[in-house]
Amino acid sequence: MSETLKVQDLEAPKGRKVQGYLNISEKPAGPHRIPVTLVNGVGDGPTVVINGGEHGSEYNGPAAALTVMEELDPKELSGKAIIVPVVNTLAFEARWMHGNPIDYRDMTGTYVEEIPRGGSGVPKISYQVATTFYREVLTQGDYRLNLHGGDLEEDLLTGTMYRRTKNEKRSDENLALCRAFGYEWIRESLPKPGAPTRRRLEFPMTVGTEAGGMGRCQSDIVDGVVKGIFNVLKHLEMLEGEPDIPAKAKVYHPYHLYAEHGGFFISNVRSGDMVEEGDVLGVIKDLWGSTLEEIRVPTDGVIHMVTSPAIWEDDVVYEIGKDIREID
Ligand SMILES: [Zn+2]
Repeated sequence: MSETLKVQDLEAPKGRKVQGYLNISEKPAGPHRIPVTLVNGVGDGPTVVINGGEHGSEYNGPAAALTVMEELDPKELSGKAIIVPVVNTLAFEARWMHGNPIDYRDMTGTYVEEIPRGGSGVPKISYQVATTFYREVLTQGDYRLNLHGGDLEEDLLTGTMYRRTKNEKRSDENLALCRAFGYEWIRESLPKPGAPTRRRLEFPMTVGTEAGGMGRCQSDIVDGVVKGIFNVLKHLEMLEGEPDIPAKAKVYHPYHLYAEHGGFFISNVRSGDMVEEGDVLGVIKDLWGSTLEEIRVPTDGVIHMVTSPAIWEDDVVYEIGKDIREID
């Protein structure tokens, strides 16, 4: 293991914290680069990547990263941390949801081995950000805290999330990492049966977080994310002390509810509400006031996400968490 933590030409020797830029690519008017902080602990341990802002208008996670990069003391740290508070700075600057105003892509779908070549007038900035961030930062990580939240239009349940794979042992470790963060709710995605085993990029073991949403940044929610990050660093024995977490957590499996009609969507429920099979969660009306559709939930569950009132035919209107189970 190298003693120096290095991202491109930025170097943090052991026991030091260094701030600078991750250079992405050349825009027409100059370089595209994003702020990065390296914290190289005096002790040995794993490398954790802490990033926010893949979706640039989800704010509480990035705000927590700003606090952590200030408070994390390399003299108390065993291992290394690479912190990128806002990956998708173009979206942040433009107050843009999900994608960005240059190429409109959602960058979570642009981590690829090779950037596809397109025709004239098709910028690829999302691919360039994702592949550079992947190559220079994520490949160095043993663990990743990927800080999300509800986007501008999303009322979202605060919690952690992870994806199970066919590797049960590693999946259980990943669940334990979510548990150590300390939120009450854990969103668990299952491997898709029969999904093609095409070659995919390998990512560090990742805990995703959702905290707050609807374009707001609130210090109490930010404090919760900061606490969770320090909990995980303690769980990984990168910091002294035990994670401070509640006795139980609840795990659920997510699924989407879709609207048949486009129209004006009015919800009866909020994120975190518990619902029962058959409940009417909301209605869609046309702009003459007639009800086009009532949205009923097909299972018991918890409301994970409520989306925008402006609904297009076949849009997702809710994400629901089902199969809720309590864990220690
Ligand atoms: Zn997000």
